[in-house]
Amino acid sequence: MNLVVMKFGGTSVEDATAITRTAGIVRGRREQGAHPVVVVSAMAKVTDQLIAASTAAGRGDRAGALAISARLRHRHQDTARALIASEAMRDLGIWIDKKFDSLDEILRGLSALGELTARTSDKVMSLGERLSSRMVAMAFAERGLDGVNVDARRCIITDGQHGRAIPQDALIEKRLREHVLPLLEKGQLPVLGGFMGSNEQGVTTTLGRGGSDFTAALIGGGLNAAAIEIWTDVNGIMTADPRVCPDALRVKAISFEEAAELAYFGAKVLHPATILPAVQKNIPVLVLNSRNPENEGTRITALAPHCRSPFKSIAAKKRLTIIDVVASRMLMSHGYLKAIFDVFDKHKCAIDMVSTSEVSVSVSVDSNEKLPEISADLSKLADVKYEGRKALICMVGEDIRGHNGIAAQVFEAIRHVNVRMISQGASEINMSFMIEEDDVEEAVRSLHAYFFRDPDPVVFDVAARQQRAESVRK
Ligand code: ADP
Ligand code: ASP
Ligand code: MG
Repeated sequence: MNLVVMKFGGTSVEDATAITRTAGIVRGRREQGAHPVVVVSAMAKVTDQLIAASTAAGRGDRAGALAISARLRHRHQDTARALIASEAMRDLGIWIDKKFDSLDEILRGLSALGELTARTSDKVMSLGERLSSRMVAMAFAERGLDGVNVDARRCIITDGQHGRAIPQDALIEKRLREHVLPLLEKGQLPVLGGFMGSNEQGVTTTLGRGGSDFTAALIGGGLNAAAIEIWTDVNGIMTADPRVCPDALRVKAISFEEAAELAYFGAKVLHPATILPAVQKNIPVLVLNSRNPENEGTRITALAPHCRSPFKSIAAKKRLTIIDVVASRMLMSHGYLKAIFDVFDKHKCAIDMVSTSEVSVSVSVDSNEKLPEISADLSKLADVKYEGRKALICMVGEDIRGHNGIAAQVFEAIRHVNVRMISQGASEINMSFMIEEDDVEEAVRSLHAYFFRDPDPVVFDVAARQQRAESVRK
């Protein structure tokens, strides 16, 4: 069976027009003989609004929380009505109202208690995908595509870590074989919500923001798909975030390793965990544009073609904090670094970058929640300072290896920017450095202008840049 997982992000299901376009794309794949499993995100911005509603309720703002919920209820009802004309709309309308009635009940409870637990937050956040997946499945059915909504929480079994749950691969594979495979064998079209799962007891969990890509990869891995397609709102992985750098070019092909580094270091186009299940089973991942389905997108595979330029893309990750641990006497002593890292481990805080000197260790972290506790524990070992509003720029490319003088070129390109920490990745395919958050846009544009002046047409979509330039001239 030519099984293809097709994941559609928030903008690809943002309203009735987008969902209708999505149906057309899926129909196209089926006509080519593929058996798609569809994964959808919540409609664009819905997760943000659900979080806003539960946080408002958690701080006692009952009216504010209920107002957000009411707006979301209308948006979903309106979209459903625009999509589904048949009798089925009556049931769907009642079902949507029931979901929002219970959301309102949770929000009222939260505002009375004034406390939001991670468990409740997961329950609320997952509503976006529960709603979108059912609406999309019904919209597909209405258009003759035999869509069937499968509750992803029955398949994506995770541990109990709310907000950042870890998938249990063996159980997921078993559940997919029970709940998804039989539908495909009957010629039906399974539609699952991304981002959410449940622990073995059936309590709802989520995979972290942007996690629908991860769901797609888990399903692709679990069912040995022939390909995993990530449909989004840009033509593929670009040489930089096109919102920051309008001149960015599409990267035609990129390796798993390069894509993983980019995703981890801030390229939002792909969730960092997406690549792993695909790597394990060597399943190609394609990043495609649902607003421009004819475009070839980016193909992520085990081996990427080599290219003339050292870098494939530039990623930036904001909202980081640098923690400096200063201890002149003890740094070189045995076990000292371990003691420092044990503190981060104890607080389950991931570190992005490390640099050491004779007297100090600097680390950068991306979550601020635990900073006071971490700082208190580190103070027992040494003097501690921390500074927020930092950003990491990460330049990725497998061809860094063979190039001499790359670092000199990078720092030449951004000579006017103040650089705080530098690291040439252990994987030898990334070069990263830390700067002030306010300098990010400027730095990315300067680096992009410098390294993508004369891009290699084998790897980058140079024709699109030429067309753009011509249309501007006209
Ligand atoms: P979706 O809702 O489809 O998952 P996301 O908003 O999560 O979409 O990701 C797509 C966005 O990622 C793009 O609109 C783009 O602004 C951003 N982005 C950041 N870095 C890159 C990059 N290197 N290539 C392409 N898009 C990028
Ligand atoms: N809806 C979730 C989010 O906004 C998951 C996703 O879109 O991938 O984070
Ligand atoms: Mg995303």
